[in-house]
This record gives sequence, structure tokens and C-alpha cells, in this order.
Amino acid sequence: MENQVTDKSGSLFQKALSLVPGGVHSPVRSFKGLHTTPRFIQSAKGAYVQDVDQKQYIDFCMSFGPLILGHRYPEVEAKLQEALQRGWSYGACEPYSLELADFIISRIPFIDQIRFVNSGTEAVMTAVRLARGYTGRHKIIKFNGCYHGHLDSMLIKAGSGLAGTAEASSKGVPPGTAQDTLIVELNNLAELSQCFNEHPGQIAAIIIEPLPANNGLLVQDLSFLKELRKLCDQNQSLLIFDEVISGFRVEFGGMATHTGINPDLVTYGKIIGGGLPVGAVAGRKEIMQFLAPVGPVYQAGTLSANPLAMVGGLATLQCLTPEFYSKLESYSESVVSIFNSWLKTQDQFKNLQILRKGSLFWIVPTDQKIKNIKEIPADLAKRFYDLFKALLDKGIYLAPNAYEIGFISIAHDEKVQNDLKDRLFK
Ligand SMILES: *Cc1c(COP(=O)(O)O)cnc(C)c1O
Repeated sequence: MENQVTDKSGSLFQKALSLVPGGVHSPVRSFKGLHTTPRFIQSAKGAYVQDVDQKQYIDFCMSFGPLILGHRYPEVEAKLQEALQRGWSYGACEPYSLELADFIISRIPFIDQIRFVNSGTEAVMTAVRLARGYTGRHKIIKFNGCYHGHLDSMLIKAGSGLAGTAEASSKGVPPGTAQDTLIVELNNLAELSQCFNEHPGQIAAIIIEPLPANNGLLVQDLSFLKELRKLCDQNQSLLIFDEVISGFRVEFGGMATHTGINPDLVTYGKIIGGGLPVGAVAGRKEIMQFLAPVGPVYQAGTLSANPLAMVGGLATLQCLTPEFYSKLESYSESVVSIFNSWLKTQDQFKNLQILRKGSLFWIVPTDQKIKNIKEIPADLAKRFYDLFKALLDKGIYLAPNAYEIGFISIAHDEKVQNDLKDRLFK
């Protein structure tokens, strides 16, 4: 079973390895450390993906979050097909992005203006530049374990030297860049206040995933999130909520409306495009007006607000009613309780359990609430690897990494839940 190669996926991966670095276009897809080759997916529908060897899986990766409606939701597919007939890129003003902008702005009270880009990374890159341009300051506070895309200034981890030092987490990021990102532990107010005290008048912004979900699911105390807003106000720094995962997921207005905390800027991605490449930065008008062409902070994009992607995003967001979210919550509760009851019956896995926040879940070997990365059990990856393989064999597809979370969609309905039970317990 070690290094098991499924027929067609295995040979496609061999080919991919010669054509593409590591065989993948994004590292997590490579199944690194999982001792099996990636499955090549050829098609999908609802809660299921099918690989090139014709094996079907119940999908809990869901493209890492965008597919809150599942694969090929009929309304979205129909609108996309219509849009395709009209053309798919103009590099000019078009009405479709306005419909999406209007839909979002009219529903999320703290947003006056929005700009669409092509990915979450681009959204964060723009938000960080905008915060610096608006405040005239350089330093950004980032939390250890939060992921904000692959821009240089966010590929920074806590330094191995003195407390408060930071270094690049990737080769190719210059030390000068690392120096302007300050790393603080999640859920640690004392460290955060100290950071402001040590850099008076220099902090442009705090950026945080208000529901950190890229290094496991590290649910923060509400009091901690509220303190961020207070500290930013006291220091004339901006608060950036990176809601690329949590936006339109925990509820339509993401963690901002969920907690009642208004960030100055918010970044979106994933669900906002419904599975097409869309990101966005949004916020108060006086800040957004700093963007080119009206303001001095440059930002642009040949394919930004791509009409096909705008239509896919709008069709997706239009389905996200209050009834939708209560249904999703009940499906999520059922799915997680099925997984948990199965885990208990398995000698090998009975110490694992699922932490859930709405339709997001994380499998961990502890029942403690984990709030920062120092509390994550060290043997997590090893234990995940066995579970991942067992589930994959049963036709259940998790995101292929212990630190990635699972995503439940509205396609994971009663029928799929029954199928999940069959696949687990048979
Ligand atoms: C996925 C993600 C990003 C990066 O988005 P991409 O579209 O992959 O560039 C940024 N921030 C958060 C919180 C994310 O989950």
C-alpha cells in the first residue's frame, strides 16, 4: 500500500512531475507526506468528485472553500452558460461587476466600496498596500498561523532569534520585506499590546483571519477580536479582516457581522467567485478612495472583474439566504456527528475528533479548544495520514493535509449523509 499508484492518476502524476514543478500548480495538491499519489479529478457534481480511474468520492475539500453550493449547482451553471454566450473578457467597463458590487454592498453595512481582483492573494496584497498608503506607515502586524496568500509581506513567520523578530517563511523574500511584518501569537493580548508599545506610530494595520482556518481551525475569543478594534482605534492603525474563507461562510457578512466588529478593510476570495477566480478588497469609502485612479495607491488587473467570474459569483451569493445558512448548519451538524460516531468505533482513530465551526471542520487528536499554533498536538500530521488514507479508500475525500480544514456544502444533504454512513460503516 505504500506509494500505491492508482492506474491513470498515477501515470498522469508521473507525466505532471516532468511538466510542472512537483507535478502541481499549488503545493498542497501534491499529497506530500501522504504516501499515495494525488487523484486526478475529471468531473464533479453536487457533493461528489470523480477521478480519472472512475472512482467517486464524497468531497469535503470543495475546492478549498469556494463551493458552498457544491459542484455545478444548477442555477450557477445556467447563468454561466448564458454568460458564456455574451463573451468572457472585455478589459472595459461592463455591468456585471456592478450587480455583484451592489449585491454585496447593500447587504454588508460597513462596506461602502469594493474592488474586484482575481484571487485572495491579490486582495490581501491590495489591502496591505492600501493600508500603508492611507496611514503613511510601513509596519503590518500579522498573527502566527494565519495565512493571507503568497505575497512577500505575508510569507513571514516568527523569528528564531529575539522575541518580536520575524523572518521569511519562504526563500526569495528579502529581509527588508520581512522586517516590516511583525508576528504576534493568536489570542495573546499581552504580546499584541507590547508590539504596539515597541513600534509607536509605525503600525499601518493589523491583519487577521478573524476565524483562523488555514492552520487548523483556531477559533478566537470574541474578547480578543474586540480588543483588536480597540487597539487599532487607539493607535490610528487600520484593522484588516481577511475573510477569504470566513466571508459568506459563517454568515453572509462573515465574521465581521457575526461578531459585530467593523474592520476598516476586508478581503474576500473563495466563495465570492463561487469557484471562479475572484477576490475583492472592500471597506470605508474614505480609505477605498485612496486607490488608483482617484487615489495615490496603485492597483490594476487585465482580467479583474472578469464578466464570467462576476456572473458566477453573483449567482452563488444570490443563493445564500438565511434559510440557506440554517439548512447548511443542520447538514454540517449531521455530517460531523456521523464522522465522530464512526471515529469512536475505530481503535486506531478513537482519540481523534472533529472541531466544528458552522460548515468548517478540523480533525484533531484532542478535545481541548486550540486557539494558537503552539497548542496543536505535535503528532497531528502522522495521525492524519492514516485517517486520510483509510477515508480515501472508502471514497471519502478530505483536503490532503492535516492542517487544512474540511468544507461542508449545501450539496451534503440527507442522501449524501446516508451514503457517508454506508461508506464509513460498511
Ligand atoms: C485562500 C486564502 C487566501 C489566498 O487566496 P488565493 O485565492 O489562494 O490567493 C488568503 N487568505 C485566506 C484567509 C485564505 O484562506
